[in-house]
Amino acid sequence: MKTGHLYVISAPSGTGKTSLVKALIEKDPSIRLSVSTTTREPRASEVNGKDYFFVKKEDFDKQINNNEFLEWAYVYGNFYGTSATLVKNSINRGEKVLLEIDWQGAFQIKQRYSKGLLTLIFVVPPSLEILKERLQKRGQDKVSVIAERLAAAKEEMAKSGNFDYVIINEKFDTAVSELYRIINCS
Ligand code: 5GP
Repeated sequence: MKTGHLYVISAPSGTGKTSLVKALIEKDPSIRLSVSTTTREPRASEVNGKDYFFVKKEDFDKQINNNEFLEWAYVYGNFYGTSATLVKNSINRGEKVLLEIDWQGAFQIKQRYSKGLLTLIFVVPPSLEILKERLQKRGQDKVSVIAERLAAAKEEMAKSGNFDYVIINEKFDTAVSELYRIINCS
């Protein structure tokens, strides 16, 4: 039977990771994107069970205590976790499973998963200056939040050596093609 493979994509906030993943899945619909659980409030366009499983903090804690998460982390003021069962079932079915999670989660999975089953990908902006412009253009965050995200991005980028691949998201289509190649060759 074919064994599945786990791909983890992490990136500093504003790097364009979500758009890249969306384009990748359009190109290769056989990839299964894992739906995480979070204590964050849903955004206007988000659907429970599709974008995230939105839960109260006490339910998240219960899932931690029941060892239901493959990994979990506190990211920018909210908790996020990946269901161990959903990932395991997908892998057992021989699927390519993609997790779009932060670096803390990526490091936890690196410690738990055998190397042959796992590929860690880190997406970076061409420069911090460009990242700053992108965060400002997105218009989603206050000036203080942008400053925080930039400082965090600097720290996160220093961890890129722990990933198997680093993709520079300078030209969107090139970055999507690189991602596609990595996923279909490893
Ligand atoms: P957002 O709230 O903007 O959707 O996501 C905020 C951050 O949380 C992003 O970096 C995203 O990749 C990360 N994230 C989403 N789901 C998970 C998860 O299950 N585990 C971890 N560790 N991070 C997650």
